[in-house]
Amino acid sequence: MAFEFAFTPEQRLLKRSARQFMRSQIEPGLPDDDWSGHGGDSPLELVKRMQHQGWFGIGIPRALGGAGMGEVEYCILMEEISAVDSSLGTIFGAHSGIGLMPIYLFGNDDQRERFVRPIAEGRHLAAFALTEPTAGSDAASIKTKAVRDGDDWLISGTKIWCSNGNFADTVVVFAVTDETLGAHGGVTAFIVSKGTPGFTVGTIEDKMGIRQSNTAELIFDNCRVPKQNVLGKVGEGFIAALTALDGGRVGLAAACLGACKRLLDDCVRRAKDRERYGKPLGKNQSIQWMLADMATDIHLAEYAVYHAATLTNEYYEKIAHGEPVPRALREKVSRAAAAVKIHCSEMTGRAGERAIQIFGGDGLKMKYRIDRSFRDQVITEIYEGTNEVQRLIIARELLQEGA
Ligand SMILES: Cc1cc2nc3c(=O)[nH]c(=O)nc-3n(C[C@H](O)[C@H](O)[C@H](O)COP(=O)(O)OP(=O)(O)OC[C@H]3O[C@@H](n4cnc5c(N)ncnc54)[C@H](O)[C@@H]3O)c2cc1C
Repeated sequence: MAFEFAFTPEQRLLKRSARQFMRSQIEPGLPDDDWSGHGGDSPLELVKRMQHQGWFGIGIPRALGGAGMGEVEYCILMEEISAVDSSLGTIFGAHSGIGLMPIYLFGNDDQRERFVRPIAEGRHLAAFALTEPTAGSDAASIKTKAVRDGDDWLISGTKIWCSNGNFADTVVVFAVTDETLGAHGGVTAFIVSKGTPGFTVGTIEDKMGIRQSNTAELIFDNCRVPKQNVLGKVGEGFIAALTALDGGRVGLAAACLGACKRLLDDCVRRAKDRERYGKPLGKNQSIQWMLADMATDIHLAEYAVYHAATLTNEYYEKIAHGEPVPRALREKVSRAAAAVKIHCSEMTGRAGERAIQIFGGDGLKMKYRIDRSFRDQVITEIYEGTNEVQRLIIARELLQEGA
């Protein structure tokens, strides 16, 4: 059946109100110079304002304190937040997409009540800790261990690159619980609260882009976690990680879409307003082609992102309600998520280069924020699984299927 997509009236309203809120209430509060950010506490005031909108539990049922919406609405918010600031988009994505979602999808009733509710109500922030110094792309080779000690588990190891690491009240941590079984069977997910003895935050990374997003090293030294905090079944943590990353990638693609649309708007304005050789820049065919190429990328991305979001929503609904998930659906979601992640992150790279070219020297000045978009984009080709790894996912499936 052909895919048809149109926002519902409620989704259109959400998009309009999110755009209006981000541009009137958040954008004026952004620092002109993000170099001072360093992922410190500075964005938290803005994050609080966004939490008050009820967005931080967008995909969680109302009965658990959420907004009762789904992945399409999550992507709408990722788009509108990232159109204003990619650091805020990263904070929101790390929280909703990969931090909160696995707890909701794989948590039991008690965990949903204890952890999902305060997060969905906008009182707590969440994070996702998988990556380690020796396990980035090859996430299956994590070394952090958890050993059983009576009714508890003791977690030891170091996680790196954890977005929201120093902000989060609740972190989903992946650890090896049986090294004889490999990632599928030997890795378990744990819910760890800030302040748990044995859990400390190490280095906060000073990055070239998304500088207001906090990226931290997390250290676990015999961190004692009760068995009630095991997320899902022992040994089934890796599938929880992969499931969360699928939705996370679609959200990231939506973030890129928002950032790209904003760049195009800025470039169109510039092309109309700036005169050179006695005529607006936009009268030159070379500039027109750059604008048209950006618009073409965006046009195609928009359908692909919301198609992937619709598929992911169907997938997550089944998991959340304990229904069987057809393998074909899971594979379709992974492939769509990988494809939109690649396309949207790379189109944002192309748009950033074109925008700097269209802005000329001004593109390098911080006050136009074109430089910021350019630096912020670099990470989108890396996190949530590098684009090379996404290509591997797609190619593996193609070759298995015999195309
Ligand atoms: C700002 C930021 C925020 C992040 N947030 C989080 C977070 O919240 N939680 C979390 O768990 N992680 C997070 N990450 C980690 C991120 O997911 C990893 O950086 C990413 O998966 C890549 O791992 P790596 O950096 O170790 O690169 P490596 O794995 O060392 O890869 C280096 C290069 O080799 C390529 N490569 C590796 N293997 C292959 C292969 N088999 N075939 C072809 N090419 C290959 C990669 O594509 C890449 O280009 C974050 C990272 C950054 C930079």
